[in-house]
Amino acid sequence: MKPETIAARHGAASDPAHRAVTPPLHLSTTFAHDGWGGKGRFDYARTANPTRAMLEEALAALEGGAGAVVTASGMAAIDLAFAGLPVGSRIVAPHDCYGGTWRLLDAHRRMGRLDVAFVDQHDAAALAASLAPGVAMVLIETPSNPLMRVYDIADIAAQAHTAGARVLVDNTFLSPALQRPLGLGADLVVHSTTKFLNGHSDVIGGVLIAATAEAHTELAWWANCTGVGGAPFDSYQTLRGLRTLFVRMERAEATAARLAALLAAHPAVAAVHWPGLPADPGHALAQRQQAGFGAVLSFELAGGLEAARAVINGVRLAIPAQSLGGVETLISHPATMTHAGMAADARATAGIVDGLLRVSVGLEAPEDLERDLAIALGEAQRVG
Ligand code: PLP
Repeated sequence: MKPETIAARHGAASDPAHRAVTPPLHLSTTFAHDGWGGKGRFDYARTANPTRAMLEEALAALEGGAGAVVTASGMAAIDLAFAGLPVGSRIVAPHDCYGGTWRLLDAHRRMGRLDVAFVDQHDAAALAASLAPGVAMVLIETPSNPLMRVYDIADIAAQAHTAGARVLVDNTFLSPALQRPLGLGADLVVHSTTKFLNGHSDVIGGVLIAATAEAHTELAWWANCTGVGGAPFDSYQTLRGLRTLFVRMERAEATAARLAALLAAHPAVAAVHWPGLPADPGHALAQRQQAGFGAVLSFELAGGLEAARAVINGVRLAIPAQSLGGVETLISHPATMTHAGMAADARATAGIVDGLLRVSVGLEAPEDLERDLAIALGEAQRVG
């Protein structure tokens, strides 16, 4: 079946008890045995529960994986990927990744649990040097948060595999509707399902999807062992959000293209980061690697921090808030919000400047968003 059909229909009308079209929400923490030794598919809900399992099946199918583990947050899913690694294992991570990912890896490094190298994965020499034999895992985040840099999954995965590493791709920004990393050579895919997969800004969740059944079994073992699995209600909500993933992505991306064009032509804006713009350095690679350019963009104000503040205070429709991927357009200031957990020097190295703003484009009428942004940019021009 086509991915659109899987998203809209996985598990629909499969309820044996009442033939419910919408899959029921199972809240039970435990499941009855059919007498001595008569354990069924489900036993204890930390290990697995029917609602979470249905979401896991749908997400594994959409990413083309052998299995998925749904977790309580995106960060829990990223951490789960490292659970089975011996102490001191070497991880190569992007220098410009999501601030929470940076904070987690930096904490593992400081505690001596993992040997983490943050690398500019566009720098071929630096990447090659970091991939010494014995490296355990390479994390790729593409497009990156918040600078929308596009990294070549197939190329980095091939180099990582030569060095003996597993490849983990954070696919949060595009979702499987627009990018399928396992088909490009990744071994694991992670999402913050909080974002586009759920799409309604009402669930914190994550998922880790494995290419092979063996890797999935290992991850599910760790998730049960540490208890990081997602709650049934969150899985129910996320499955409901997933139904409309493809149409939401298509519509939001079309509006993002209009806003990117407006920003690129505005005198208050020094740079726009959106791979859909022909002038964007990631444009050609995104055309090859992605099925669309996505609905998140970022831009730098010529007037720096003061101008960024004027835009945040000037918008009336876009909502100043962290997060992305919901039906409502959000605008955020990465340096003080999503990437505040990243050390200031690491932010500077990554290029996350104080005049940078990130927009997650929602489903409002594009004309309304254009007007809103134009007015706020006018405010920025006045201060900048
Ligand atoms: N990965 C990326 C790219 C993100 O943007 C985020 C959150 O913003 C996460 C992971 C973490 O997800 P969560 O907030 O669901 O823990």
